[in-house]
Amino acid sequence: MNFELTEEHKMIRDAARDFAQTELLPGVIERDENQTFPTEQIKKLGELGFMGMMVSPKYGGAGMDTISYILAMEEISKVDASCSVVMSVNNSLVCWGLETFGNEEQKEKYLKPLASGEMIGAFCLSEPEAGSDATSQQTTAIDKGDHYLLNGTKNWITNGSSASVYLVIAQTDLEKGHKGINAFIIEKDMHGFVVGAKENKLGIRGSDTHSLMFTDVKVPKENRIGEDGFGFKFAMKTLSGGRIGIAAQALGIASGAYELALKYSKERKAFGTEICNHQAIAFKLADMITEITAARHLVMKCAWDKDQGNNYDVSSAMAKLYASKVAMEQTVEAVQIHGGNGFVKEYHVERLMRDAKITQIYEGTSEIQKIVISRSVIKG
Ligand SMILES: Cc1cc2nc3c(=O)[nH]c(=O)nc-3n(C[C@H](O)[C@H](O)[C@H](O)COP(=O)(O)OP(=O)(O)OC[C@H]3O[C@@H](n4cnc5c(N)ncnc54)[C@H](O)[C@@H]3O)c2cc1C
Repeated sequence: MNFELTEEHKMIRDAARDFAQTELLPGVIERDENQTFPTEQIKKLGELGFMGMMVSPKYGGAGMDTISYILAMEEISKVDASCSVVMSVNNSLVCWGLETFGNEEQKEKYLKPLASGEMIGAFCLSEPEAGSDATSQQTTAIDKGDHYLLNGTKNWITNGSSASVYLVIAQTDLEKGHKGINAFIIEKDMHGFVVGAKENKLGIRGSDTHSLMFTDVKVPKENRIGEDGFGFKFAMKTLSGGRIGIAAQALGIASGAYELALKYSKERKAFGTEICNHQAIAFKLADMITEITAARHLVMKCAWDKDQGNNYDVSSAMAKLYASKVAMEQTVEAVQIHGGNGFVKEYHVERLMRDAKITQIYEGTSEIQKIVISRSVIKG
């Protein structure tokens, strides 16, 4: 057992913290208010190597481990969860999925620009009738010899309009059920592909969430990822790692709110003393830091599992389930500690509270994480 971070890990964490303070904090309230995508900030994150953190340098990535990735995710999420979700989808869903399961041609053509941040990727599984039940795919890709013909609609897609490359899951053979599902690489300018209107959201408002429509899109055969019928497994495996990123995002939202609440409680006075001297507030701080520390250990554990080559399906589900609960509960406490100021935008905690909610919903709701965990304990 070793709870110490390496010097390299500390450097990465500090670089991400510095970036969040200097590049993300200014303008974060306005981007949230106006639903502005952080274009410039994502470009700079790419230049720093944060858009393809775990990708091998052979494909233009930074070649870092998963611990480094979650340290960076936590720091970015403390300040701007809209930015960190773009980073998370690109790193742990799109780049990881392509590097692990794509062929050499796909990696050369798509992974390289995605890992360097030159392009942004999107991961497209959810549909109007297929959210938690991802096997109910209505989007079809019919084999036409040298290409597939793609038809259908995807819902709630992060990076929906800012992406250039989309990993799209579709049913190729209905009779085979989930074994008749495939994953395809779609380019934005393919004929018949239309990006729908932007969703007006409660939180992570700076990220762009869209529905996507595909009408007779001709997808070259070489754009299928893996063997025929591999798509469902591809989606599940990829999401398992994605949950590590979202767990780290939730951790960052919680710890960002805690840091603001701690600072505020040492400055704000009531009844002749700083409010941190009132036991009710001091105990809130004690609960917050205890729960955040427990969440951090779970997040570190699943990242470590992944780096060690262990199975991380359950540890990532636990980390996401717990960290997202902590994020939701502790951001509410942070607003409470701020009193009336917690309810206005300038103090940031109301945004963190709104942002926290999505971590209990996307990449598998909390109920779905409990299904993953309970099935594993019951099976033994
Ligand atoms: C901002 C945002 C960004 C997103 N980004 C992406 C993206 O980039 N790519 C993508 O593919 N998807 C994305 N999603 C979709 C997201 O993953 C789904 O919303 C999520 O998986 C839940 O699916 P659903 O909305 O259809 O809810 P449903 O599946 O309809 O669930 C509704 C409720 O029922 C519960 N429930 C469902 N089944 C069960 C069960 N068997 N047991 C117990 N409870 C159950 C759920 O937990 C939930 O509480 C995004 C969503 C949002 C809001």
